[in-house]
Amino acid sequence: MKFFPLVLLLAVFSPCYSSPVANQWAAINQAAQIGNNAQSIGSYTAGCLSGAVPLPQNGTGYQVMRPTRGRSYGHPDLIHFIESIAQTTHSQQWGVLLIGDLGQPRGGPTPSGHRSHQTGLDVDIWYLLSQQAANRNLDFNERETWGAPSVLVAKSDAINDNQWSMTHEKILEATARRPEVDRIFVNASIKQLLCTRKSSHDWLRKIRPWWGHDDHFHVRLKCPLNNKNCSGQEAPPESDGCDASLAWWFSEEAKKPAPAAKKPEAQPLPALCDVVLNANSQTKSSLSHPESER
Ligand SMILES: [Zn+2]
Repeated sequence: MKFFPLVLLLAVFSPCYSSPVANQWAAINQAAQIGNNAQSIGSYTAGCLSGAVPLPQNGTGYQVMRPTRGRSYGHPDLIHFIESIAQTTHSQQWGVLLIGDLGQPRGGPTPSGHRSHQTGLDVDIWYLLSQQAANRNLDFNERETWGAPSVLVAKSDAINDNQWSMTHEKILEATARRPEVDRIFVNASIKQLLCTRKSSHDWLRKIRPWWGHDDHFHVRLKCPLNNKNCSGQEAPPESDGCDASLAWWFSEEAKKPAPAAKKPEAQPLPALCDVVLNANSQTKSSLSHPESER
């Protein structure tokens, strides 16, 4: 911990501090809780998590991929959500959900792969619904080496019918209908497909086009009710999103976004996250910084 103040200095003075700070968060392999209940602190893209719990590697209707990444921690609400939606896919015989990243043991920025997933309320779920996973628990090697196949035909916007089925649409609809779900990020081609299949439905507005997301969908939960330091996001627009805003995603401008548009600069974390980062994992230390960091 001797070098921690240096990291803080970097955080203050460096406009792009994600690397050293992210490494600090990634180096911690145990959750810690400050206060009496689990708390998502800050925003999805600049925050942390107190009182995280790990998603068990196997459960009814799901299995966790890439265990060595150490990103299977979430707010207890997220863990309950995943277990619940997996129960649904199991009981409907839709297949086994392969779960990618949730968050780190104390949330926070990750050194690679994501800008969000920082408050333990985001989860990536593969589109791959493997028969093998339905019959047995995947072994360690399979979890580490299997690829998540794209549901698009290579170098095109077309959906690959070999990788896509009505089951995927049912899973997305069931997920979007959950009241605790804030939004779901999918590739624009998937949103477009859903728009052609459904007459306007309220749940469609939660399905949001975003770059990538052709091999997994990204579910984001709303801030838990009693988490006063959690900064949510504006609700998706009232419309179903099957309009010009969707057409934009197929424009030249969207295909070749300016780097700054795609990767905004990392934002400083709320000060309360310093308490989480430094908390002893064994004890529930008292909440020493009661101010909201909104
Ligand atoms: Zn994600």
